[in-house]
Amino acid sequence: MKNNKKALLILLIVCMFVFIMLSRNHRKEPEIEQPEKQQQPTFKTNIIVYNTRNEVIEEVDLDEYIVGVVAAEMPASFSIEALKAQAIAARTYALGRAIGIYGSTAGRHYGAHVCTDSTHCQAWIPKDMYQSWYPNSNVEENWAKIEEAVYSTSGLILTYNDEIVNPLYHANSGGITEDIQEVWSSVSDVPYLKSVYSEGEADYSSFKKSVKLAGEKIREILMESYPEIVFLGPVSEDFEVVQYTDSLRAKEIRIGSIVIPGTKFRELFSLSSTIMEISFPNEDEMEITTYGFGHGVGMSQCGANELAQKGRDYEYILQYYYTGVEIEPINEDVIVELNK
Ligand SMILES: [Zn+2]
Repeated sequence: MKNNKKALLILLIVCMFVFIMLSRNHRKEPEIEQPEKQQQPTFKTNIIVYNTRNEVIEEVDLDEYIVGVVAAEMPASFSIEALKAQAIAARTYALGRAIGIYGSTAGRHYGAHVCTDSTHCQAWIPKDMYQSWYPNSNVEENWAKIEEAVYSTSGLILTYNDEIVNPLYHANSGGITEDIQEVWSSVSDVPYLKSVYSEGEADYSSFKKSVKLAGEKIREILMESYPEIVFLGPVSEDFEVVQYTDSLRAKEIRIGSIVIPGTKFRELFSLSSTIMEISFPNEDEMEITTYGFGHGVGMSQCGANELAQKGRDYEYILQYYYTGVEIEPINEDVIVELNK
């Protein structure tokens, strides 16, 4: 009896031991909580940038460069989807420029792919200059927002028929964008750079601007470019818009004895746009009110922000302003070309 009890006790201990071992072996490993993944760049390639401010050529990561372009080209206060659209347009342009499809850069880049001159390539600022450009902004917050726009669209560009496009953009269209041939007559028809309506842009400070020009000043500036010009009377008699484009931009302007393109007139008098209303406060003074800011071709940045605020995403925005384009990862051939 005593032995039986002892045997039973041993059996019980053995059973408990086996049970403990089994349960240990079957116990699940504790789950290690993974920290939430930060949005990381998914695409890496370098681009050679000629910084026109300090005349230094540097090789930098493409997206790092694009962050500086977006920071310089679009206010960080714009909606994130507009910033993403801007990032993709800027990346597309940088690569198109780098592989030479927008014409020669001889004498401008000293061998670099792109430069930081906004009148030639795209504007660009480093983070340490951001505060001086936008004194009332929160640099860290804005820079982080721009980085999110760039890195969340990393590697994406715009193509048409599998070719990199020329994604022209401007600040404010004045309500309607322009066909490319109306601005650059030497350019043949570009199917993705067609005039489209662009709503909600009147709410931006870049929408409307008025300037007054004295007849004397107008004549002086014109005579520098057109020495053959003959003035027939005061500016109120000497000036008329003789032709408009379909988007109601001044296409041809007669001044005195000559007719010049509206785009040339805009350039000569540093006007914001060629959508203009003219009045004459007196017979030899002209007041020009322009609507929009920029050449008007391609994506309107203010219009992009309006679409984003209405809930449209970057794909919609880009395909709205660039008719028929695709948003695709950078092609291997482009990367090979870039690394030549
Ligand atoms: Zn350039």
